[in-house]
Amino acid sequence: MSSRAAVHRPTRVLLVEDSAFDARVARALLLDQPGEFFDFQWARSLDEALRSLEHERFDVVLLDLTLPDSSGLSTLRRLRAAAADTPIVIMTGSDDRDLAVNALKSGAQDFVVKGIRDRRLLARALRYAIERNRTLQLLQLARERERFLASHDSLTSLSNRPIFLDRLEHAMQAATRHGTQVAVLFLDIDRFKELNDTLGHATGDAVLQLVANVLRGAVRKNDTPARFGGDEFAVILEDLVDGRDATRVAREIAHRLGRPQLALDHEVFVTISIGIALFPRDGSTAEELVRKADTAMYHRKEAGRDGYAFFSAKLDAAARRDLELEGELRDAVARGQLTCHFQPQVDVERGCLIGAEALARWHHARLGWIGPDEFVAIAERRGLIVPMGAHVIELACAAARSWPLLDGRPLRVAVNVTARQVVHGDFVGSVQRALDQHQLEPERLELEITESSLMEERGGGIEALSELRERGVRVAIDDFGTGYSCLGALKRLPVDAIKIDQSFVRGLFDESADAAIVNSIIELAHQLDLETMAEGVETQAQREFLQSHGCRFMQGYLFGRPVPAEAFLRELSKERERAQLGVPAPHVLRRCS
Ligand code: C2E
Ligand code: MG
Ligand code: MG
Repeated sequence: MSSRAAVHRPTRVLLVEDSAFDARVARALLLDQPGEFFDFQWARSLDEALRSLEHERFDVVLLDLTLPDSSGLSTLRRLRAAAADTPIVIMTGSDDRDLAVNALKSGAQDFVVKGIRDRRLLARALRYAIERNRTLQLLQLARERERFLASHDSLTSLSNRPIFLDRLEHAMQAATRHGTQVAVLFLDIDRFKELNDTLGHATGDAVLQLVANVLRGAVRKNDTPARFGGDEFAVILEDLVDGRDATRVAREIAHRLGRPQLALDHEVFVTISIGIALFPRDGSTAEELVRKADTAMYHRKEAGRDGYAFFSAKLDAAARRDLELEGELRDAVARGQLTCHFQPQVDVERGCLIGAEALARWHHARLGWIGPDEFVAIAERRGLIVPMGAHVIELACAAARSWPLLDGRPLRVAVNVTARQVVHGDFVGSVQRALDQHQLEPERLELEITESSLMEERGGGIEALSELRERGVRVAIDDFGTGYSCLGALKRLPVDAIKIDQSFVRGLFDESADAAIVNSIIELAHQLDLETMAEGVETQAQREFLQSHGCRFMQGYLFGRPVPAEAFLRELSKERERAQLGVPAPHVLRRCS
């Protein structure tokens, strides 16, 4: 509609006046306005006015307070109750000023005194009343929005963290009074960062909204879903009998998410990890419950994502240990408390040792040896992976340099790296420096990286690895088969070898499909002209199966456990002596030939 048309729309006036004479006067005054149009509905009583308001909207009500069926302020109140948004202008007699003032206090927009026959005055009063009313409404909307935004997340319209904590306090008090329980669910979308990076932020936002809607749909009316920021959500479930109710909601959320969803134009498959803490069992303050639900969520992630976990004291102990280790890892790196153990890698076809994998170890003053499964993740979280990783490469190169030739052949050393370490800092430079410093041929260094790690950094590490590979350094995909197993991508990756994950080797003789998987991995590797190394080989039967299916390289307790650098060196020296003296091969090699 054009603005001209809008200007010419007549102003709809509900004239509530029992006196036909006064009504006629008002009407005459208003109809005689240059450039302004009024359109009237005349009601002679309050009852009639109320009925009109039921069926029609008016721009303004012109009201005489003294009517046959109502008088004074109660007329105004009842009218306002029926049409709160419509501005009201009171018509009073000249002796009714007090009433008029009270009417203004009770919500009338303005008043006009009957008998003043100024045609502009009445029209102006109506116009101003309409405008003032509109401004007030806009202000009120703005205030409401401000209040809403202060307590809600603007993207999903869910409650925000402060409001959530406030509600949780109330829920806990109510539960104490009623002898019921409260559950706090802490939710985190799995691999959200990856999704965001791949499909873009707009799709990421759509996924967050989608999850918010799923939460809204999965909980009861008086439960509170909230967004804490990023991809973290939380839910309060009130009035529970026991933890099973929380389980039901967690399952319902997973079920609703459990099919491909449309986010903008993309079909996405969203999963979520949920941690659950219960009041009063797990904590006595809102903050504590949230922290414990968070701990449980974190453990759920570690255990393989997509599902829920309840908080338990055991988890708490693990979380505390994590926290303690987090605080000390930086010092450990600086003080050189990180060392490497070395585990032999063998060529079963030739029956000889080809090198060793360097496995990081932290010797903690009080806790003893701590394994990489625990501290590598901490190093990543704490941003220590780059210096820690560089230190391990240093140690590995230094060790390899000290190893004697076996049968005239140099041994290689394999080092585990994570994509984050490769992507951040000057990875190529730091590897080259380590090689130079210890005068190690690049061919003697192999970098092991997991598929999932490589995929998670969206290819950022691939360039660095390609460059190192051009300089002669070898690259292997670690734990193959457990991550995305993106076979298509494998062709494009700068890779020399793949390491079959030990979980498949362990399951070779179970009824599972592991044997078939191992077979197809070996076949695939051959087709792509890659070496295969099986990890975690513990029994002769496993070795035979693998070898007969074409896997030439192996590593595992059958051939040797990881040992400190000095012990590994001693083994090598003994082996060399034995070889020189023509003594039969030591146990390592007997087992592989
Ligand atoms: P990985 O690279 O797959 O290393 C093999 C793991 O399996 C090692 O555990 C090794 O001790 C263990 N293992 C070897 N043979 C056998 C066997 O026959 N049976 C069984 N049950 N286990 C066997 P570890 O040393 O605890 O290392 C765990 C993971 O930590 C490694 O898995 C690797 O992904 C990571 N890691 C180790 N050192 C480093 C490092 O310096 N940097 C980084 N980023 N990650 C590392
Ligand atoms: Mg490895
Ligand atoms: Mg592995």
